[in-house]
Amino acid sequence: MATGAASKRRLTILGSTGSIGRSTLDVVARLGGRDAFEMVALTGNGNVALLASQAVAFGAELAVTADETQYSELKQALAGTGIAVAAGRSGLVEAAERDAGWVMAAIVGNAGLAPTLAAAGRGADIALANKECLVSAGPLFVDAVRRGGGRLLPVDSEHNAIFQVLEGDQRHALERIILTASGGPFRTWPLAEMKGVTADTARAHPNWSMGLKISIDSASMFNKALEMIEARHLFSVAPEQIEVIVHPQSVVHSMVAYSDGSVLAQLGSPDMRTAIGYALTYPQRCSLPVERLDFTKLARLDFEAPDEARFPALRLARVAMQRGGVQGTVLNGAKEVALEAFIAGRIGFLDMAEITEAVMERLAAVPAASAMDDVFAADDEARRLAARLIG
Ligand code: NAD
Ligand code: MG
Repeated sequence: MATGAASKRRLTILGSTGSIGRSTLDVVARLGGRDAFEMVALTGNGNVALLASQAVAFGAELAVTADETQYSELKQALAGTGIAVAAGRSGLVEAAERDAGWVMAAIVGNAGLAPTLAAAGRGADIALANKECLVSAGPLFVDAVRRGGGRLLPVDSEHNAIFQVLEGDQRHALERIILTASGGPFRTWPLAEMKGVTADTARAHPNWSMGLKISIDSASMFNKALEMIEARHLFSVAPEQIEVIVHPQSVVHSMVAYSDGSVLAQLGSPDMRTAIGYALTYPQRCSLPVERLDFTKLARLDFEAPDEARFPALRLARVAMQRGGVQGTVLNGAKEVALEAFIAGRIGFLDMAEITEAVMERLAAVPAASAMDDVFAADDEARRLAARLIG
């Protein structure tokens, strides 16, 4: 019996105004836009004009600004369009709860946790850019996705690479996960010079164009620290199975080493649209206009061991994984406060790791979270302690 056109896939993008959010909309547009997809909800924070124009262009059903003070401005911008408007944390959760089968989680930081959990809980496929969900809520988040019944599709380029080369039926033969790191703008800088750098220098990533916070986290290698913990939960591997290697060209996006000596890698240009597209059309591959690798022009691919003396964040990730408990939550919460203070010019670049470590030490004995409330409590406590240390 003919039933007409197949129903369109329903999508929601949490954090559509950010770097990942805009790239996601670009991929959606290239894969057919409104002819191929129904946009359920889009969310932003500050940039109401951009959010409103995205909502109109993609025919969203709901637009949400996390910033309650901008509710009336958004309402006004969308007057007469028929697009529903909401604001604040409850608005974000409302967006996540609407019945989209695929949700891109691209809000930056811990603010992404509650809405992403809401989407996971109702069984949506989660395209996960927001690594903080896994760093902060680890096993509870994975469990929420499993119970909801949706798929967890990693978007972070390293984890997307591993996802692409992980052979599902060969998990028993997996020996190591090798996360590549560009090393950031200070890869070769002496420690003494790193002391005085500002947010403006730190945000200039050599290869990737990203949001402000993740760019600075890349410079301090806190981004790689978060990604180690992310990999542990995403792929259920032991801390000892996670290796980090500095690869300044960012062409090899990550690798998996197997027990027969084989190493499988995923390579590509540094363009997040490949990972986003893979998560959107999985298990199919889609067609995207990202720059093609020309091996005759790639002069070389370099690899070097990371220097944990200059980039202590990597050591902190290992400490957090070994201690277990809520140390991932604590590392992330303290780091977010320290990062805000660095951006505001209140602390130095190297102070971020020092403050994070001090907070982790103080909360070293807090037991593992058995419910999300424990995660939120540990996060609050880590933030409070970090703020006090910053003064
Ligand atoms: P971004 O700063 O460019 O965008 C963040 C988005 O979150 C924006 O839509 C912003 O409006 C929204 N937002 C900010 N604060 C919010 C709050 N308090 N409540 C609700 N919404 C808020 O960040 P990005 O670079 O797109 O990164 C998004 C996430 O993806 C981060 O978790 C980051 O670690 C991860 N990620 C990004 C990249 C990348 O290439 N940019 C790569 C891998 C992973
Ligand atoms: Mg990454």
